[in-house]
Amino acid sequence: MSAQVIDGKAIARTVQERVSLRSARFLQRHGRRPGLAVVLVGESPASQIYVKKKRDACTAVGIQSFAANFPAACPPEALLAHMDALNGNDAVDGILIQLPLPPQFDTEQIIEAISVAKDVDGFHPYNIGRLALRAPLLRSCTPAGIMTLLAETGISPKGMEAVIVGASNIVGRPMALELLLAGATVTVCHRFTQDLETHVRRAQLLVAAVGKPGLIRGEWIRPGAVVIDVGINRLPDGRLSGDVDFAGASARAAWITPVPGGVGPLTVATLLSNTLDAAERRVGTAHV
Ligand code: NAP
Repeated sequence: MSAQVIDGKAIARTVQERVSLRSARFLQRHGRRPGLAVVLVGESPASQIYVKKKRDACTAVGIQSFAANFPAACPPEALLAHMDALNGNDAVDGILIQLPLPPQFDTEQIIEAISVAKDVDGFHPYNIGRLALRAPLLRSCTPAGIMTLLAETGISPKGMEAVIVGASNIVGRPMALELLLAGATVTVCHRFTQDLETHVRRAQLLVAAVGKPGLIRGEWIRPGAVVIDVGINRLPDGRLSGDVDFAGASARAAWITPVPGGVGPLTVATLLSNTLDAAERRVGTAHV
């Protein structure tokens, strides 16, 4: 078997086209563009690249981007005061703080300072709780983006044996809630999981989100499985790689996402889509 590659870039383009249309309609109806504040703290090169991508993507779909850059040494109070100002700014529909934050910050405190209605990253405990209770509002971008990838590829997780490797707050845990909501039987593996291979071998749907290149070996993949590789790892030769041995897994899987060009583009597209959801809900025109 040779897996079909899921083209995340193409699917993300489709999502962004829909967002552009909604954005134009929003401008026409409300006399302003939907607004997204993208806040960067510190000078991490990786974070700078991600933030630039997000700000550029806003421009491309007609979302007004509000930029704020704080130095790594800024006191948490300054960031909290900025959050307050953004929460109260009617032109701002969504607020995103690029993670990770420098060590002096209490990440939970900062996330919880974002108004739940503007939490377009979907990390606030309220929005995670809504997802856990089967009534999602703003959904974490990477897991929700993966659900879009699956839907657009015609794959329904209902009844599937799904295995998630990685249990972080931003990917693994909300991914488990998304797949549970979609009717999969879900196993979550983490650092203390014994015998990872046995779990992976059972997976009809595998989501790898660890950050360790080659952790998932090709021969572990169940024949016919759907393999979603979230990992982004920079190899010593400069290339990017996921967590899954792509060549080995492709020989056994039915579907597989590449790295780059798989999950990553959907994360940004979902952020834009969440911003429109938040904007429409704030002005009371959701679902039109
Ligand atoms: P993270 O916060 O470091 O979490 C990694 C998770 O993997 C943790 O839950 C950890 O378990 C688990 N883990 C570590 N070693 C393991 C092992 N040997 N076996 C099983 N589980 C293990 O990372 P993250 O933020 O979730 O990101 C994961 C990867 O996805 C990274 O490469 C990141 O760059 C990438 N990423 C990509 C996108 C995208 O848009 N494509 C978005 C976000 C992240 P414990 O919980 O027990 O520590």
